[in-house]
This record gives sequence, structure tokens and C-alpha cells, in this order.
Amino acid sequence: MADAVLQTPIDYLKGVGPNRASLLRSELGIHTCQDLLHLFPNRYIDRTQFYNIAALERNNSEVQIIGKITAYKEISQKNGKRLVATFCDASGQMELVWFRGHKWIRENLKINTSYVIFGKVNWFNGNFSMPHPDMELKSEFDKGLRTAIQPIYPSTEILGNRGISNRVLCKLIEQLFLQIDGKFKESLSENLLNQHQLISKDEALLNIHFPKNQNLLAKAQFRLKYEEFFFIQLQLIYKNLIHKSKIKGLVFEAVGAYFNDFYKNHLPFDLTAAQKRVVKEIRADMGSNAQMNRLLQGDVGSGKTIVAFMAMLIALDNDFQATMVAPTEILAIQHYTDLKILCDAVGIQIALLTGSTKTADRRSLHKHLQDGQLQILVGTHAVLEDKVQFKNLGLAIIDEQHRFGVAQRSKLWHKNTTPPHVLVMTATPIPRTLAMSVYGDLDISVIDELPPGRKPIKTVHRFDSNRLKVFKFIRDEIVKGRQIYIVYPLIKESQKLDFKDLMDGYESISREFPIPEYQISIVHGQMKAAEKDYEMQRFVKGETQIMVATTVIEVGVNVPNASVMLIESAERFGLSQLHQLRGRVGRGASQSYCILMTSHKLGNDSKTRMQTMVHSNDGFEIAEVDLKLRGPGDLMGTQQSGVLKLKIANLIQDKNLLALARESAKKTLKEDPKLMLPKNAPINTTYIAMGTYKNIWNYIS
Ligand code: ADP
Ligand code: MG
Repeated sequence: MADAVLQTPIDYLKGVGPNRASLLRSELGIHTCQDLLHLFPNRYIDRTQFYNIAALERNNSEVQIIGKITAYKEISQKNGKRLVATFCDASGQMELVWFRGHKWIRENLKINTSYVIFGKVNWFNGNFSMPHPDMELKSEFDKGLRTAIQPIYPSTEILGNRGISNRVLCKLIEQLFLQIDGKFKESLSENLLNQHQLISKDEALLNIHFPKNQNLLAKAQFRLKYEEFFFIQLQLIYKNLIHKSKIKGLVFEAVGAYFNDFYKNHLPFDLTAAQKRVVKEIRADMGSNAQMNRLLQGDVGSGKTIVAFMAMLIALDNDFQATMVAPTEILAIQHYTDLKILCDAVGIQIALLTGSTKTADRRSLHKHLQDGQLQILVGTHAVLEDKVQFKNLGLAIIDEQHRFGVAQRSKLWHKNTTPPHVLVMTATPIPRTLAMSVYGDLDISVIDELPPGRKPIKTVHRFDSNRLKVFKFIRDEIVKGRQIYIVYPLIKESQKLDFKDLMDGYESISREFPIPEYQISIVHGQMKAAEKDYEMQRFVKGETQIMVATTVIEVGVNVPNASVMLIESAERFGLSQLHQLRGRVGRGASQSYCILMTSHKLGNDSKTRMQTMVHSNDGFEIAEVDLKLRGPGDLMGTQQSGVLKLKIANLIQDKNLLALARESAKKTLKEDPKLMLPKNAPINTTYIAMGTYKNIWNYIS
């Protein structure tokens, strides 16, 4: 019964009709009664209080008054007319004012009849007045389902102008409840309800729209948020389980000579506890019979490379090959250089493949990949090309997830008849809770600890007017033998302008730091790969003291002697980018600095970004602020944002609830993987319906 009503187009709800229906559709995306039921209030106003007109104060607050309209008149003004009504209670009188919709109001207003009005009061012309009050006949007010806590629904200007006020929305929802008799299908199991002390579906929906009191409202919110998270998580975890049972993986049981030799004799440092834990997680994955699909998160400098290398050794120990793919050539070269040292120590064949690898080299590389002589291939997107064939690829590592799409990940899968294990590394940490909800198909490992002895980077924010002092500081650091990065923004839309900024900057830096005393490298996107590499290498070798660059150096570059990261026009960078850039320093023994240069004029968001950078070195904390500023959809790209269109829960504010719901979903599926137990029937029914709908709230009731 309820089901049938809920599926009905909104046009057929009593009180709607074609005009309102089309407005509801276009303005709020409400197509069916169900959509209306799930139009959740943005906020609530306590309407237990009634005011006397005589007691009003000139503070612009929202008040509720009972009184009668005694008269009204239209007054001409410059742009149109306004309708002014005199509104009285026993204590005094005030004005109600409308600037639009006069005809409708004149036709419907009842003189000398009790109304409950609600709205903001202004002090105007020696009178209190309330523009566009929310009003309702006292007799209706007393009858309704509505309670003292008044929901405020999402609205738009058009809705307001066309007569669909908050009160109208309340009335429509009330009408819907009456039609259904307030009965909805329970979608959670008794078990979960009891375990988490959740109120029933009926009670929750009733109290979200017509809260009886604050306590029940809080319970209703808790239950509905939990439910929203629960079903999203259920779906994600279910997908993950299916993946694991369907996609058989290569079983790397042996941890053999390479791994052991390296671990015992060649580890350049002790692993941190977090690194050890993650290596274990990866080992367990690769040793099971399911294909590994793991996301490795770790802040810049947390030491992901060595973990990746050890994972590769496991593949090699089982006579398989491994590859690591990076988003830029510079980064691929850097990885290759780092890994080559480790490979040489244990006698492993490694090669680099990028867009600029020469044809002759490529030919022999292809050959040795196919005959298995080449054990590790590091490279850029070039590795993904079809003509790059492995003898037996066992592990693919992708660095810097945010630049790779799902499509590219799946290309790697097809490099072997049984898909290789996949490890995705990212240095743009996202809060774990968010990661859980957007990367449901990946398992997650986190390195949440930096190697010991790192001095936290000191970050300051300076204005262009402080430039001379900043340059002096840089000179002093160079005298101490340190090296400096100076980075300019490069944003696609204005590449030409940016390039000019970079070149102008380079010139003024060259004047400020003249040869032969100072040597400067410059690297930017318009240079040929060989030139870039040459300039990079000069800096890496310490032949130049200053590196002027665009964000091409954002990821992965490792020069421990560099101690200052100067970021020009820092307000033009996003938080995660700033944090990445800062991560280029602080890799050696000496104190490092990050200097954020901006102009004096800064918007609020920019200010928050600078302040966040100055007070925090923690990538996860920064990611969380970033999330608040930009919203999750933006952070992850549009591709996954569908998952994040939450109706009632909030990923940031309700992250504990998300974790709780995820645990419940996990436990439920562990105990009953196919949701076949009678007690899980409500969940199962809902879950099945879910398959056909995008928006989980379309099936939950
Ligand atoms: P990221 O996670 O940013 O890729 P890297 O793997 O490049 O970090 O490591 C950053 C630096 O820290 C490298 O110079 C690496 O050799 C060093 N490092 C990594 N792990 C440790 C450790 N456990 N102890 C000391 N230094 C380490
Ligand atoms: Mg790295």
C-alpha cells in the first residue's frame, strides 16, 4: 500500500497539481511521492515560543506570533506596489508586508481571523514589520501533525516566489503521511535496530518531518544517517567480496631469496612500525588466492617506495615480474633512480620506459620483458601500451592514484592472463572514512607515521612586500650549503600567462642571484624531456642551488639537501597541492622551510588555506580541511561523486557514524554473505531494490 503510493508521480498527491508538480520537479528534483518523503529538512526552528507584539525587540530575529489582520492596503512605490496589512494581538500592532504575489494573498487573506505567523521582524519607519510572513490559520495550525519544532526544507528563490513556501512543503508532506497512514516498510533488521538502539523506520520518518521533541529528532537523524551509510557501505563491501571470490589471483606463497636477502642484508634503514604493518598486509593479500586491489595511502615522505619495492620482491620470489607506473616522466625517472640502487644491491634487472625511450632501447626492452630477463619495469603511461608485453606480470604498482583513472587500472589487469596484483599508492591522503566510502572496491593500507628524526618543516606565510627579507633568508640558506625550490603556478586555463609569470620570475631571480656565485636550474612543462632531465640532474647533483619550476616537480622528486620550498602566488594552489610541494623539502637532516608568498588581497578560502598550511604538517588533517572547503565531489573528481550525494548524512560531521555503519555492514555480510537469513530479510529486500536505483533513498522505504 505504502509502496504504491510512494511510487506515484508527485502530480497526483492531493494539493499538488500540474503547476506545483513541475516546479517541484525542476527546483527540487522531486518526481515521486517517495522523493518528497525524502526531502529532509536542512534545519529546524523551535516554535514552542510565542511572542507578544509589545515584547518584540529590534534584533531582527525570527519570531512566532498569534494575532489577527484588521486591514490591508496597497501602497505604490518606485518599482511596483507593496501590500501592507495591519496585524494585531492583545498587546499591540505591527505590519505584514508583501512585495509580490498580492493577488493570491488578497484573495485568500481572512480579516479578523486568528493566524499564527512566523518570520523575521524588521524595525522600519517606527513600526515593526514582517516581510513575507509564513502564515497559517490558527484553526489549521492546531489540527496539524506539525509540532513545535519546525522543519525548514531546502528551497529555492523560484519556489518561494511561486507560492511553494516552507509551510506548503510541510503541508504536502503531512498530506503524504496521512495518505500512507504513517506506515513504512522497515529496511533494517531487528538485530541492527536493537544493537544500535535505532528507532523504527516509521518513527524515524515521522520525527524527521514532525519532531515531537529534540530527543526524538536526534534519534530520527541518527537512524536515518546510519541507514544511509549502511546501505552504501553494504553495496561497496559486497562488490569487494564478489570481486575477491570471482577474480582469482596469483598466489604468491613463497617469500624467498630476494625478499629475505634484502630484508636481512640490504635494508638501508629500519622500517617504521607502520611500514612493517603495511608490508604484512600486502604479503597476506598476495599470498591469498584473491587478486590484490589495495590502496596504499601515506603522507609525503612517509616511505612508500621501500614498501612498494618489498612487494615487488615477493612477486620476483615467485618468478613473476613487477612494474611501477608513474604519472610524469620526472617522477618515473626518480623512481627508477631510487629503485635501481636497491635492485643493484640484490642483483635484480630493472629498466625504465617512458615516451622518450629510444626505439633501439625499446626493442631490447620489449624482448627482455618477454623472455623474462627483465624483472622490474618502471615507467610512465608508455607501460600501458598494448605492445608492451610481459612474460608474466605479477604485480603492478601505480603511483599517485589521483592522476589515474579506473580505465587505466584495468589496462594493467590485462597484462597477464590471470590479472596481476595491483597496488595503488597515493600521497594525497584522504580521510580514511572518505576513502572507505569512495574506494569501496579497494582495500586500504595506511602508513600513518613518518620515519624517525624528521624535523617538522617550518611554514610561513609572507606577502610580496616582504620579498627582500625572503631573498635574504634564501641567500643565508645557500651559504649554509642548502638548496632552494621556487615554484610558480601552472594552471591549464591560463598557460600562456603562467608561462610568462614563470619566465619573469626566473629573470628576476637570476638578477637577484647572479652567476657565477649562484647557479639556477629551470624546469617547466614546455621543455623537452631530455632538457628537463638535464636540469633536474644538475640540481640533484648539487651543481645548481636554486630550482625554478612549475608544478612539474609536485610529485616524488627527492633531493634531501633542499631545505627551502618557496611557493609563488600560493593562493592559486589547492591545499593538497601546497602540501605536496612542501613535501619536497624536509627530507634531509637540516631544518627545512616552506614559504608561501601571496598578494595582500586574499579571499576567505585562501586565508584558511594559508593558515592551515602554517599550522599543520599533517596530510590527513589538511585533506580534511580541503574537503570542507571544496566538498568531496570536487576532491575525488566527478567519477565517484555519485556515491557522495548523501541526502542526510554528512561525510565530515558524521564520520564516526560512517565507521559504525561500515562495521555493521561488514559484520552483516560476514555472517550472511548472501543476505539469506530470515532475520536479514528487510535488508535483503532493500538491497535488491537498490540494484535498479541510483539514489539509495529511492528504495529504502
Ligand atoms: P613517499 O612516501 O613520499 O614516496 P619515499 O618513499 O620517497 O616517501 O621516502 C622518503 C624518504 O624517506 C626517502 O629518502 C627514503 O629513503 C626515506 N625513508 C623511508 N623510510 C624510512 C625509514 N623507515 N627510516 C628512515 N628513512 C626512511
Ligand atoms: Mg613517493
